[in-house]
Amino acid sequence: MGKSKQENDLYHQLIEGLHEGVWLVDEHHNTQFVNQAMANLLGYSVAEMLRKNIFDFMAEQDKAVWKHLLIQYAKTKSYSRGLELLHKDGHAIYVRISLSPIFENGKEYHGTVVGVIDDTDIRKQDLELKLLSSAVEQSATLVMITNEVGIIQYVNPRLCELTGYMADEITGQNVKILRSSSFKASELAEVWKAIISGDAWQGEISTRKKNGEVFWSLMSISPIKDDNENVINFVAVGEDITQLKNAQSRIEQLAYVDGLTGLANRVLFRDRFEQALKNIVRTKTDAAILYLDLDQFKRINDSLGHDVGDALLMNVADRLRDCVRHQDTVARMGGDEFVILLTNIDGVTGATLVARKILQVMNKPIRLLSHEIIITPSIGITMAPADSLNADILLKNADLAMYRAKSKGRNNYQFFTSEMNERAIRHLEIENDLRKALDQDQIEIHFQPQVSLSNYELVGVEALVRWNHPERGIIYPDQFIQVAEETGLIIPLGWQILKQSCQQWHTMKSKGLQISKMAVNLSARQFRDPNLLEMIQAIFDRTGFNPLNLELEITETLLMEDMDHAISVLKQLKDIGISISIDDFGTGYSSLSYLKRLPIDSLKVDRSFIIDIPEDKDDMAITAAVIAMAHKLRLKVTAEGVETQAQWNFLKRNRCDVAQGYMFGKPMPADDLLKHQ
Ligand code: C2E
Ligand code: CA
Ligand code: CA
Repeated sequence: MGKSKQENDLYHQLIEGLHEGVWLVDEHHNTQFVNQAMANLLGYSVAEMLRKNIFDFMAEQDKAVWKHLLIQYAKTKSYSRGLELLHKDGHAIYVRISLSPIFENGKEYHGTVVGVIDDTDIRKQDLELKLLSSAVEQSATLVMITNEVGIIQYVNPRLCELTGYMADEITGQNVKILRSSSFKASELAEVWKAIISGDAWQGEISTRKKNGEVFWSLMSISPIKDDNENVINFVAVGEDITQLKNAQSRIEQLAYVDGLTGLANRVLFRDRFEQALKNIVRTKTDAAILYLDLDQFKRINDSLGHDVGDALLMNVADRLRDCVRHQDTVARMGGDEFVILLTNIDGVTGATLVARKILQVMNKPIRLLSHEIIITPSIGITMAPADSLNADILLKNADLAMYRAKSKGRNNYQFFTSEMNERAIRHLEIENDLRKALDQDQIEIHFQPQVSLSNYELVGVEALVRWNHPERGIIYPDQFIQVAEETGLIIPLGWQILKQSCQQWHTMKSKGLQISKMAVNLSARQFRDPNLLEMIQAIFDRTGFNPLNLELEITETLLMEDMDHAISVLKQLKDIGISISIDDFGTGYSSLSYLKRLPIDSLKVDRSFIIDIPEDKDDMAITAAVIAMAHKLRLKVTAEGVETQAQWNFLKRNRCDVAQGYMFGKPMPADDLLKHQ
């Protein structure tokens, strides 16, 4: 070999100083030499390994590969690859080997130097990376990696699938390619600011697909830093939340759209209305608000059922939509109330045209579930800026005008006028004053005599309320009953009226009044009050009034609204001895067949039929017929507003039972009535 001892020592030191294992085998693969590092790696001492065959350090299944390697390749060239060796305790050690064959005299194969590097850590990392990347690749999560300036370096298949880009199409592009127009540049700048400074960012991002569609994702973007804390990459991980977003916007939509008709609801209307009012000022144009209420809708709903009612509302919504232009807003405010906002309209003329069109379209009958229905609207109109530029005031104006349309006989439109406003203000004053009136004994009762047509005797009285206002003097019920109804004040007021009437009845009786019936008017709201019976009973208990002496006057309109409920309340009233009479008969539906079903005692023919007797033959015919029919139903008949002898004679001839009117006396205080008798 010709090497000096010095040289040998040097080689020895060199080999033993290596961290990698060195293993020398002869042509039969027996170990000639191993360095300490090699022995350590496999857990043996050097002496234990010497002369052992290299295959003894391998698992059975690997031996074939090693043989192949050592025999096939080692003789010809160097070779390097990863393999497993067995540790002394039996576990596998991952190594990377390099083989260098040795040739005697440059020709004959003499053995192999095997260099062995411990590969366990690297193998482990490799494996983890493989696992990780396959997890990322197969993940349903969106993953994207960019460099520090936002150039895309990696996207996972899920992101490709969702965006429609191929991986190699999108890598190398700037992330901006994915930005949708609804994600503003300023928002993007915010995100950049956060992540460039090294913070993670999380939020919702709308992203543009290759085909232009937009999807929403919830993204977390984290910066990746090198050892010197410089940001070198960004990793964005996200979830596709498009469905969630859609659900959310559906919920938002529900909050703005009327579920039944698909029209704008109150909230959305308000929004558009405020917007429109701003535009009016800017563009110096006119807008109109139409407040629309369906006439008699409640009746249809109650009698034909809610399915028909709903179908009707949907149909009305469609027809209203057809009456306006695209830029106008039709909204359902609730129940059977609709509001239409007409912008950029040709003043009062333009609004009138639309109102007329609505009336015309709505007056056509429609077929719904085998019913032929005509539903008419009452429409109130107000103009902006002429009437106001305040949304609340305009809505109130239109509402007032709508009530005006109703009181004008329905199925028409009315414009808001300043008088209506004055009326509204007056209503407010009345409401406030009426509250005080109840506390301050300003409520008085007058009594109007009722006379028997057969013998001219006083048989009863009708109690009629008067309000003795400290400044305005006597106020008549026409001025305040409606306000009391609308505000609910009718409940305490009605209680007061009945109580005072019963108390005064006793006074009059004790002073010698010889009658058996007192009629008291009951308003709609009182009749629907669930505490009605309780209240009446309490008054009877307090005043000692005999229920047999009381007659309650109720209008027919009120009873027809909900027949079944009316019948049950009337029955309870009758059960405690109270009589019932139908007031203002002839002004409502006046259906005698309905009356047949009601437990009532008498009818009061409305004054409007009496007033033109004997001139109006129709009124006379109607009155005569009503009396005859009522008698057939065993109902007594009272005629209201009897002022003349001719009227008296006519009523007597037609066997009317009782007459009430100025002919026998106006409503008067109890004391006057006593003198009158
Ligand atoms: P009503 O129940 O039809 O009462 C009859 C009204 O006709 C009374 O007006 C009475 O003064 C008037 N009247 C009676 N005879 C004649 C007549 O010969 N000629 C004319 N031109 N009028 C006559 P009043 O007292 O102003 O009451 C008006 C309405 O107010 C009543 O009509 C009734 O609907 C309501 N009302 C009156 N008092 C009460 C009450 O205590 N409670 C309720 N809920 N409503 C009441
Ligand atoms: Ca009455
Ligand atoms: Ca009446």
